[in-house]
Amino acid sequence: MYFSENIDRKHAVLGSKPVEQGRVLIIEDSRAVSSVMRHRLETDFFCHVTQCASADMFRDVMRGSGKFDVAVVDLNLPGASDGEILDAVIAEGIPAVVFTADFNRDLRERLLQKGVADYHVKNNEGAIDMVVSSVLRLLGNRDVGVLVVDDVPSARTMLADLLRVQKFQVYEASTGFQAMDILTRQPHIELVITDYHMPDMDGYELTRRIRRNHNSDRLRIIGISSSADRLLSASFLKAGANDFVYRPYVIEELQCRIQHNIDMLAQLRQLRVAAFSDYLTGLPNRRYFFDEGPAQVAGRLARGEPCCIAMLDIDHFKKLNDTYGHEVGDRVLQAVGAKLARRMDGSGHLFARLGGEEFSVLMLGLDVEGGAALCETLRREIESLRVALDDEDISVTISVGLAEIAGRENFSNYLAAADQLLYLAKTYGRNRVYSETMLS
Ligand code: GH3
Ligand code: MG
Ligand code: MG
Repeated sequence: MYFSENIDRKHAVLGSKPVEQGRVLIIEDSRAVSSVMRHRLETDFFCHVTQCASADMFRDVMRGSGKFDVAVVDLNLPGASDGEILDAVIAEGIPAVVFTADFNRDLRERLLQKGVADYHVKNNEGAIDMVVSSVLRLLGNRDVGVLVVDDVPSARTMLADLLRVQKFQVYEASTGFQAMDILTRQPHIELVITDYHMPDMDGYELTRRIRRNHNSDRLRIIGISSSADRLLSASFLKAGANDFVYRPYVIEELQCRIQHNIDMLAQLRQLRVAAFSDYLTGLPNRRYFFDEGPAQVAGRLARGEPCCIAMLDIDHFKKLNDTYGHEVGDRVLQAVGAKLARRMDGSGHLFARLGGEEFSVLMLGLDVEGGAALCETLRREIESLRVALDDEDISVTISVGLAEIAGRENFSNYLAAADQLLYLAKTYGRNRVYSETMLS
């Protein structure tokens, strides 16, 4: 919630994709199995879970408000021992993860033909975890865009349908140029799967062109071809593709390769969040502030809009630490950070914990008068903040130095100016906002 689009366009607080909160239907007659699954999905992942243990219960649920994002389906149930419930689930358009004790190649064929999203066999301790992973994956895929590029309609449709079963948002292009166009219009596309042989631009060239503007940490590319040329995969990978699959592909293998690429993006996103967050307060950190600030300022200045920058510092914080201990100090930092975040969130201004008990706010589009009013509000809010200890409530105040950003300068010079004004705010008695307009 605190980070700008640049850092993570999808889920601003980069950590993880936020909890999916999907509605999951578990159709399973073993109470033990379905309860473990339910517990994991509800407590760890905040899903809403409905359990049914028989065909009758399933029919009751579906007669009710039965709207589900995913169903976990046991093939053998009281009253429906031959997978009838699976057909009903698929007919309802609910993506199905089959969890079955009996498994063989014939069954696999039938399941894939029916269009199940995934299947797992009840033959090991980790199987429940795998089912839970499949459910979460399907919930997560709902906001992931995948672009399929192939000039042959039947091949393209087959792959697109496979992806739709996995609940991705699927886009289709029949030429490289069309693919480039869709990519610029759909920034939530995370994966491109491209054929090699295409009339106007081959998949290799398309990969090269995509890589000019899209790095591998935001967009994955998988090449695919029925060519017999074994060197093709090497060419694709060297051009910047992340993976390559020869046709005819094994559906499960392709699914796994796709998923590994999507998972990799999620992990990279988490790393970005971690690198740009302050561990104690969860606020954006100095690195983020310095990474993002200069471009934001340059943009505003170019458009002739005002900006100002504030340095905030908690008053007598050392004394607070000495009196109450470091842990209480930490809690106060967290409370002040949360107050700052609440005030600034959604405002479009940039803010960060720079370190220690120092915070900064870069106010975009505000002149010093506007900035001073905002800082004054913040100063009062923090003054009235109470942090509850066992036998008393403690409060803190902040001093603020506020500098106007007028000409183009090094970003740290702006901050240094605010720091000097902060020094004056401290000198003149603390718990106050001090800006250039007050210098006389
Ligand atoms: P002033 O009013 O002039 O700002 O005085 P001050 O005591 O707030 O400033 P000073 O810079 O002397 O002290 C800052 C203190 O902040 C010293 C340091 O131990 C403490 N501090 C820095 N980082 C942390 C932290 O993460 N947690 C806690 N609890 N204390 C921290
Ligand atoms: Mg201080
Ligand atoms: Mg300080």
